[in-house]
Amino acid sequence: MKMLTVVGAGPAGLVAARKAQKLGWETTVLEEHPTIGTPVNCTGIISASGVEELGIRKQVEEVLVNKVRGAQIFSPNHEMVEVKKSGTVAYVVDRGGFDRVLGREAQDAGVEIRLNTKMIDIRNETVFVEHKGRGELLKSRVILGADGVNSKTRRLMGIETDIKNYVHAYQVVAEGNFNPNMVQVYLGDYAKNFFAWVVPESATRARVGLASTSGNIRKDFNLFVQEKNLTGNFCDRCSSLIPVGEPFKSVVKGNLMLVGDAAFHTKATTGGGILLGMAAGEVAANALHAHFKDNKPLSDYDKMLSPINKELRLHFKIREYMNKKTEDDMDNLFRKMNKAGMGEFLSEYGDMDKPSRFLGKILKKPSMWRLFPEALRFAGT
Ligand SMILES: Cc1cc2nc3c(=O)[nH]c(=O)nc-3n(C[C@H](O)[C@H](O)[C@H](O)COP(=O)(O)OP(=O)(O)OC[C@H]3O[C@@H](n4cnc5c(N)ncnc54)[C@H](O)[C@@H]3O)c2cc1C
Repeated sequence: MKMLTVVGAGPAGLVAARKAQKLGWETTVLEEHPTIGTPVNCTGIISASGVEELGIRKQVEEVLVNKVRGAQIFSPNHEMVEVKKSGTVAYVVDRGGFDRVLGREAQDAGVEIRLNTKMIDIRNETVFVEHKGRGELLKSRVILGADGVNSKTRRLMGIETDIKNYVHAYQVVAEGNFNPNMVQVYLGDYAKNFFAWVVPESATRARVGLASTSGNIRKDFNLFVQEKNLTGNFCDRCSSLIPVGEPFKSVVKGNLMLVGDAAFHTKATTGGGILLGMAAGEVAANALHAHFKDNKPLSDYDKMLSPINKELRLHFKIREYMNKKTEDDMDNLFRKMNKAGMGEFLSEYGDMDKPSRFLGKILKKPSMWRLFPEALRFAGT
């Protein structure tokens, strides 16, 4: 009998597995694909501050593709706010490679990784899996669902989600001329309730994507690339869902827990979930340790997640605020932001991961209150 079985070898599950094993608890990771990190459905951009906080610079350097210094954010009518720093703000990584580095580290710590092994069902401490077409039973005290956006574990726990809690994303690699130092973000009706992005790998290649709630992602994406005059290796399997809903009140039921996209540990503003999922993975392992060692209830995991959930709730509120804006509202807001020097303000204080830090700064600057009266309300949440 294993102490922990993690379903899914993505960043959240691998970090949780490695930490649990290091704390002394025999852990297995199940991954349905034959290789960790494929297929890739991700832009692979992660904040430099988050990388420092998690202490993973060495791992990132192994798979580094590009470093960026900021972002140009365009309103529908091409009003631009530029947020720029003199140093690196974010890293663009080979996402498949990144997951494989985390997999290697988990294995080095003693975690058993079972590839080609799909979790089919869970009943108490029995995990039903399919391995190369054959059924098997595994035994585990606790099961952590790190099985991504379409989590089967979440469904087995009876946690319902709604289609309105997701955006549909589509991304390709495009050739062209790009500023290798800057990410570009485009708001507009073709990216309803989200945005389109151009994340440079170099001066001639970029990861170009779009997410929306329109229900016709290919049409939205084609409109965008036509407008931007981009060409690329378009494909049919480059689309996926991103959770943008509010974090769940509880992600523990009996001996089942959730982490990462499965638990909606994803920023509703940007769709980013790599670093947050990894941070939550550490929390899951700590909760498990306290459970096995000191008999603490597994449900303490929910309480231990509250600093992460507080940030996630702010991301969600900002997303709700943005989604209410029409194209005209957005253009007006961008004009006002430029007048008020918002680009410079964000360049100094902006934080991709932790909006609480940035809202705190707004609250200390009354000239910004008129622009974002909601900041006062968000601050009370
Ligand atoms: C187009 C797009 C772009 C994105 N860009 C970024 C970005 O730039 N930066 C960022 O931070 N985030 C980004 N994200 C979000 C990011 O990809 C996710 O938040 C992140 O991958 C979540 O990690 P995870 O470990 O929770 O799940 P995943 O990485 O999805 O891993 C889940 C794993 O579980 C496995 N699995 C699923 N079901 C089973 C089963 N039944 N049995 C066994 N194995 C199973 C899957 O094969 C997979 O390997 C993007 C998402 C999309 C769709």
